Amino acid sequence: MVLKKQVSGLDNLAFDNRFVQQLPADCETDNYRRQVTKACYSNVLPTKVAAPKVVAYSREMAEQLGFTIADCESEQFAKVFVGNEILAGMKPYAMCYGGHQFGQWAGQLGDGRAINLGEVVNTENQRWALQLKGAGPTPYSRSADGLAVLRSSVREFLCSEAMFHLGVPTTRALSLILTGENVVRDMFYDGNPKAEQGAVVCRVAPSFIRFGNFQLFASRGEVEVLRQFLDYTITTDFPHLVENQASLGKEIYLAWFEEVCRTTAEMIVHWQRVGFVHGVMNTDNMSIMGLTIDYGPYGWLDDYDPDWTPNTTDAGERRYRYGQQPQMALWNLVQLANAIYPLIDEVEPLQQALSIYNQSFDEGWNSMMANKLGLRAFNPETDNDLCQELFALLAEVETDMTLFYRKLALIDIEGRVGDYTDEQLLAPLQESWYRLDALTESYKTRVTLWLRKYILRLQQEETKQADKIQRMNAANPKYVLRNYLSQMAIDKAEQGDYSMVKDLLEVMRHPYDEQADKQHYAVKRPEWARNKAGCSKLSCSS
Ligand code: AMP
Ligand code: MG
Repeated sequence: MVLKKQVSGLDNLAFDNRFVQQLPADCETDNYRRQVTKACYSNVLPTKVAAPKVVAYSREMAEQLGFTIADCESEQFAKVFVGNEILAGMKPYAMCYGGHQFGQWAGQLGDGRAINLGEVVNTENQRWALQLKGAGPTPYSRSADGLAVLRSSVREFLCSEAMFHLGVPTTRALSLILTGENVVRDMFYDGNPKAEQGAVVCRVAPSFIRFGNFQLFASRGEVEVLRQFLDYTITTDFPHLVENQASLGKEIYLAWFEEVCRTTAEMIVHWQRVGFVHGVMNTDNMSIMGLTIDYGPYGWLDDYDPDWTPNTTDAGERRYRYGQQPQMALWNLVQLANAIYPLIDEVEPLQQALSIYNQSFDEGWNSMMANKLGLRAFNPETDNDLCQELFALLAEVETDMTLFYRKLALIDIEGRVGDYTDEQLLAPLQESWYRLDALTESYKTRVTLWLRKYILRLQQEETKQADKIQRMNAANPKYVLRNYLSQMAIDKAEQGDYSMVKDLLEVMRHPYDEQADKQHYAVKRPEWARNKAGCSKLSCSS
């Protein structure tokens, strides 16, 4: 009897590699570090590794690509998504882009440790670009090695999927695979290099194009490449803008830029909603599709502190702190406007398009805050003050942001405001404060005053308790990927125990659900994690 080899989902991937087919390539094919001009990418193969071992994979992402569980647990899966085996139809390449880093133009950056495998179209006609992060050097690796370590790969893998389930626009992660090789890193750049385990994450997104792609061509005066690149981006990733339009040109470019402003604003509103701090909002880390991209030294607010950033490289200026993310996104959009200016040749319409960012952000922020507070609709006349007073209270004593909003939903609003005692009002919120001894009488009085005002506001619009809870629990996650939880999962993974990585992946699949058996993942940061590396402080070393 002849046994037929079962066709795996991996063999069924339908590649449609438009990026390499339609855009100019670097003519040099050897893999050495260099400046690459008049080209959008370089062909480059992943470096083979010794002993790939799958640590985890995302079943939702696998399903999108048509993979079964058996596919994901096959030997071939590990080989393909670590970069040891190139499937028929894959055309690996690294993109050429530049960027502003911390406000300074940095010139050519590019995919220094990301190698794109190609783009697939799934059965629902969705395009997914597959990209390996940490699969070896490319012409854009500059002085670095093109590799990634387990700790940063766990963080990227888990956060991509956690953000997706939280409803935040993001690039995705299919798999997390150990390479079986060591990588040396000096985590805090303080002369303490250490061998760490190497890993590769397969990232997935409709597109990995960044603001910096456009900027690099503009900075070099390569206007024709810039035009070609923009035309490609619009026709491939924004096809709705070209429907029924005879040809691409200024008008469509502007409509496109407006859309980038809008989707960027929407993404930032989500970050502010869930307390996510990106950490490195350089223009090379800004997705053209308004997706959260490049999970490096990011973090989640434990206690609500608008000045917080986890990134030690940014500790001085704190340019990318939580409270400044909205302004930084706009700054980045201004750089993108400058980059496409040669194709528009007029300042006014670009400025007008930029104003869409503020408008979309304000609208999005208002409705986001209404949901967080359980209001039917945001009324600027009353609710701007209500929010500002709340933020001041949250920042004044250490208050866990995630727990606070979740517990706020429990405040009863169906009684008469005058009948509630202060104790009754404060009781549901107790768990959200880090130090009960910091709660002075005057502070507690101000909180209860605010709560009474809040209850009256809800009563004024005749909101029902049950509706309010539902609205709030859909906007305020119970579970976020707390910094210390990731670090605990990493500490275990480095010892060969991947159970917590898998557990976190699982709990983060339903971040708004109560999940009674997962309560231990919904508690505030423990004291030991307050100043621990990896928990509250992270560097770019990854
Ligand atoms: P980031 O701010 O981490 O997104 O990285 C900025 C630039 O440095 C990008 O061009 C990356 O590709 C590159 N880069 C970061 N880490 C490495 C590495 N280990 N090897 C090569 N290039 C890297
Ligand atoms: Mg980057």
